[in-house]
Amino acid sequence: MTDFVDTFGASLDALVSAAQKVASQSAAARGLSATALIAAQGAIAGARRDLDASAAVVAGEIAARSRPEAGHAGLAQQEGFRTPEALVQHATGSTAREAMALVRVGGMIRDSMVHDSTVDATGAPTSPAAEPWLAPVGAAVASGALSVAAAEAIRGGLGGPNETVSIEALRDAAVELVRVGSGDDSGPGLGAGFTVNADQMFRRARDARDDLDEAGIAIRERERRQLRSLRRWRKPDGMTRYTWELDPESAALVDGIYDQLTSPRRGGPRMVDKAEQKRALAVERDPRTTDQLASDGLLELLGIGIAVGGDIGTGTGTGSSAGLRQLIGVRNPAVRVLVSAEHLAAGNLTSRTGHGHIEGHPDPISIETVERIACTNGIIPIHFDAHGQAVDVGREQRLFTRRQRIGLAARDGGCRWPECQRPPGWTEAHHVNHWQRDHGETSIDNGILLCRHHHLLLHDNHWEITRRGAEYWLIPPPGIDPDQTARPMPSKSPALRDLLSKRSA
Ligand SMILES: [Zn+2]
Ligand SMILES: [Zn+2]
Repeated sequence: MTDFVDTFGASLDALVSAAQKVASQSAAARGLSATALIAAQGAIAGARRDLDASAAVVAGEIAARSRPEAGHAGLAQQEGFRTPEALVQHATGSTAREAMALVRVGGMIRDSMVHDSTVDATGAPTSPAAEPWLAPVGAAVASGALSVAAAEAIRGGLGGPNETVSIEALRDAAVELVRVGSGDDSGPGLGAGFTVNADQMFRRARDARDDLDEAGIAIRERERRQLRSLRRWRKPDGMTRYTWELDPESAALVDGIYDQLTSPRRGGPRMVDKAEQKRALAVERDPRTTDQLASDGLLELLGIGIAVGGDIGTGTGTGSSAGLRQLIGVRNPAVRVLVSAEHLAAGNLTSRTGHGHIEGHPDPISIETVERIACTNGIIPIHFDAHGQAVDVGREQRLFTRRQRIGLAARDGGCRWPECQRPPGWTEAHHVNHWQRDHGETSIDNGILLCRHHHLLLHDNHWEITRRGAEYWLIPPPGIDPDQTARPMPSKSPALRDLLSKRSA
């Protein structure tokens, strides 16, 4: 056993120094002929497959020592990681997906070594193979004939046994896929393992599965539904990525929404309806990219969903708001921002300084964004003593009430930005005199409805709104119009128009 471990260590050292030697010979690569260059690339890929296999073996061992039944005594948990995949990711610096593949394929290689014995090489008892039909795949990876990615593709495409598909049938299919994947029937030229890439391998494995299992089509449909997920990743650049996996049926619904949001851009059908034509033209001329439009549109839809249950938390919900409460609980989801009173008061009208933080997010945000969010969501003062202890949490201030919002919706009829067609449900209530900077009141005449996009534009680019009686005017920033000529912001409410015309008649 000690011999084996010593050999393993010596092999690793040799491997590392050999790779370093090759890497340091970039000058030599320049001297190679085209044929030799391509051959070199193939040889390195082969070595890399072997290396990946070694990495998978090690990952499999890490996973085996981290088995759930070991609990906190498991290797990963002892090292401070929740799962063996997390430990492998930490050790390799790879993506989570790559680490997961290594661990899974490591498991396949272990399975391929299990055979019938109940003890392993060290004399420790082995657990039975978890996915015995994948043993040929594990063996092919271990021998360097198949890449880790291809092995993962076979595993995913083939799936597991069920009432109609036996382990034996799956094993036979796996053997055939390994034969294809390791290039046994490859044509001349590219060499072993390169005839079928991992994506094609997944498709082939899936086809093999369908051949085996006509009845399983319904089962796989159900399985695909089980795979639905919405995952969140905090990216190092401060962005947050959501990965949304949808089964075909759910995707069809979301696709419908996505297409509606973006179709005028993608050459969708021409509309006969006048209002639709107008909307299509507006979308085509919108300066945002198609991806941005889709993102903003979905956000607005979510906002509408929350607004529908605007009175959640008061306990007097209507049917739809009761449904919403059940879905998201009593706390209305709102972005919470932390900012010091000093930062909020700093700067002047045209030159703002200072910044805030979104709760739970490491990156600072601009004072313009702080103001816009406070404009919509209100503010709660928190007082700290000299030692940094929070001594008092004040009451929520300057939030338009539900009744005021109803009044604003009736008066404005939607976003009041010139030419904008967004309905009231898609808007946020902006304080004409900024609540903190100008000590603006939270009253209906100091409020105006703007869609999210225009609310953002206004705060970020320092547009201003002034009120003359019941009229609101938009003042462009000097950078856009040096004369800062006021632009009218007429109400979009047809009901109000009716009312006023009756009165003047
Ligand atoms: Zn605002
Ligand atoms: Zn708007």
